[in-house]
Order: sequence, then structure tokens, then C-alpha cells
Amino acid sequence: MFTKNHIKEYYKALLEKNSIYEGAFFVGVKTTGVFCRPTCPARKPKLENCEFFETAQEALLASYRPCKRCRPLSNPNQVSKTIQTLIDAVEENPEKRWKDYDFKKLSVDISTVRRQFKKRFGMTFVAYARARRMGIAMKQIRDGGTIIDAQLSTGYESGSGFRDAFSRIMGTAPSKKGQYNVLKAAWLDTPLGPMIAISNEEALYLLEFVDRRGLEREIERLRKRTNSVIIPGQTSTISSIVKELKLYFEGKLNQFKTPLFLLGSSFQKSVWEELIKIPMGETRSYSELANIMGRPTAFRAAANANGMNQLAIIIPCHRIINANGELGGYGGGLIRKQWLINHEKKLSK
Ligand SMILES: [Zn+2]
Repeated sequence: MFTKNHIKEYYKALLEKNSIYEGAFFVGVKTTGVFCRPTCPARKPKLENCEFFETAQEALLASYRPCKRCRPLSNPNQVSKTIQTLIDAVEENPEKRWKDYDFKKLSVDISTVRRQFKKRFGMTFVAYARARRMGIAMKQIRDGGTIIDAQLSTGYESGSGFRDAFSRIMGTAPSKKGQYNVLKAAWLDTPLGPMIAISNEEALYLLEFVDRRGLEREIERLRKRTNSVIIPGQTSTISSIVKELKLYFEGKLNQFKTPLFLLGSSFQKSVWEELIKIPMGETRSYSELANIMGRPTAFRAAANANGMNQLAIIIPCHRIINANGELGGYGGGLIRKQWLINHEKKLSK
């Protein structure tokens, strides 16, 4: 997260087109919806229209598209024709999920793309397309989704591009007759990066970092199992978790009380209930977790249940580490896991 001082410094660098800052930050321009590198030759935006990001992926997830002038996704002047073709194809059809035959149609060799993209941008093309797709869906959520509300009230009958990108991830409109639940999604900014919260008035169903790998599938599973459609919006549950997270990050809260909806098998639920009992500032290994549950041989199942957690931070799967003291895995990324463990150690003292 950037401090106020960073923002001042970066804005100054932006005005000066200071090349020393290349790679240190990217700037999203709210009025145009594009993101740039610090040295972009285009006219510079006002400070209040700037949003700064540490990585290109974060800018994509916040729904910005790459600027055509400064090409923030490439090393200066080094974007290959193949890559430009693919970036353009994503802009033309951002909701698309890329399959092998799509590359063939564009006469593009997949393994070349994989290598070039990874080398130049530090992410795969699939990760790029996904970030852009998620970003567009997330934009509706960040904006509070007034357009979606309007569409929902008319029964979602008319097709439109924005609806496609959103509904591809958040679910298609309910048919007028069908039985369904409505869940509401909100965007939360936290010191560890943006999160998405999905809830209704009764409970919190999902809380995840926006860049978590597998988030789309996770949301899809949630929708299908609960027979829900997800629309942007606020609930009292979200207000509650926002308050609690703020206190947690300030080091003033050690137990979350927002009601949770646990979607999983009874074994998974029992694992998650055990996780909540691990005191803040402590960690356990997978086999310790299996032991506590009275099923010492089930540590792999316990590990899987840990990974299936959809309520990041609240159900503290980050408190489970390897028996040898190494961090183990974390869907939200190891940097965050380490940060959470350190933060909680300080709190418990
Ligand atoms: Zn630019």
C-alpha cells in the first residue's frame, strides 16, 4: 500500500517523466480508464484523477486497460507483434476465456506466447487476460453497480457488453420464475491490497484478495452451490466486516464476530471451526491440525480443507504452516501470509 508521501513523490515523478521510477509504480487515470508507466508522453492527469499501483496486475484488477502510447506492459519499444495482437484481442473481447484453439485461430504459437509474456511482463498471458476480465467485473463492484441494479430491475433482458463481462463471473440474471438467492459483492481496500466480500444480510459468504489465484472458480462454485446470483451492493454484514477488518489491521481486534456462512462438507466445516480456535499469534502444522481433530492420518484432507477456505483472514488458514517451520502455501500469496503471521504475533504480546 502506498502512503501519502509515496503518492506525492510518485505524482512528482509522473509530471517529470522521471525514468528512474520505471517499474516502481504504474498510474491509473480515473478519467480515461487507462494505466501508464511514469514516463508516458501523454498529457498528465490531475492528482485527484490518479491511482497508483505497484504492479501492472494490480492496475488491471482495478479495471484499468494498458495505455497504447506508453505500453505499460512491455519493456519500452520491445513489444513483439504477437504480443500486441493478443493484447488487442483481449481488449476487443475482454470477457473471453482463452482456450488452445483461440491461439490457433490467431495463428499464434502458445509456447512462444507463454515464454514471451512471462519474460516481458512477469505474468502469463492467461493471467493477463484473467486480470483484465476480473478487472471489468470488479469495476461494477467498485462503482457500486448502479447500472447493474437498473438492468436487474428490468429483468436483464437486453444484452450488453458490460453485462457479459460481469455475468460471466458473477452469474447470469435470475429467470423471473426461478428460485434464487441474491448475494451482494463489495470491494474493500485493505493494507494488504483490495479484497472482495460477498454476503447477504445474514452472513458473510466469501472474503478473498482480488488477485487470489482461482478466485473466478471459487465464485462460480459459491454461486452454483447456493443457487445465487451476485450483484454489486452493500449489506449490514459488509459494514460489520469492514469495521472489524479496520480494527484488526490497526491491531485492536483479536476475534471476528461477523456471522459467517460456511460452504463445505461437514469435515471441511469442522476443520474451519478448528482453525478459528487457533489463538492469534500462534501457528500449527497440518498434522497438528489433523491430530487436534482426532484424525491423525487425515492431514492431507485437513490441508485440502484449509486450502478450500473462502473467508481469508477471518478463518485463519494462514496460521497453518509446514512442520519444519516453513511457511507452506497460501492462496493469497506468501508475502501476505508472512505479513499476517507477523502482525498477529505483535498483537498477541
Ligand atoms: Zn500512457
